[in-house]
Amino acid sequence: MAHTDCGHLEQILVSENIPPRPLPDTRNAGEKFWIAAAEGVLLVPKCTACSRTFWHPRPRCPHCGSTSVDWIKATGNGTVHTFTVVRQSGDPYFKTKLPYAVAMIELDEGVRIMSNIVDTPLEVLRIGMRVEVLFEAAPGGIAIPLFRAQSRGA
Ligand SMILES: [Zn+2]
Repeated sequence: MAHTDCGHLEQILVSENIPPRPLPDTRNAGEKFWIAAAEGVLLVPKCTACSRTFWHPRPRCPHCGSTSVDWIKATGNGTVHTFTVVRQSGDPYFKTKLPYAVAMIELDEGVRIMSNIVDTPLEVLRIGMRVEVLFEAAPGGIAIPLFRAQSRGA
């Protein structure tokens, strides 16, 4: 068992640090997506049989059932399909981020993905506004794709 003094020190360190971000499940069909994100690349699955994109990543195309699934490099540009502002959270990490925006982003490649909008004042958020991807490095050699308002003229 830990020495009492050590336990005390540990408690102080924990309370002074931001708790770790909950991480996505990177196993199975989505693994490549998370690894590419760490290199600043947003990948979207695309069926090579029917040429349609889809979300979420899976081994079989949800449109035609083909297993000929590949990835395309997305532009990282999209439109806010819908969003909400989260003002309460029981999660230790997300509690430090309050209030924050969760949004469904319609990528220009035609798929809708769930993410956060960051670096953007919450009061300017609108359905239909143009956003662009940015990546937040995370443990395990991955990164989390997040979005922000597109800079003017982008
Ligand atoms: Zn298909």
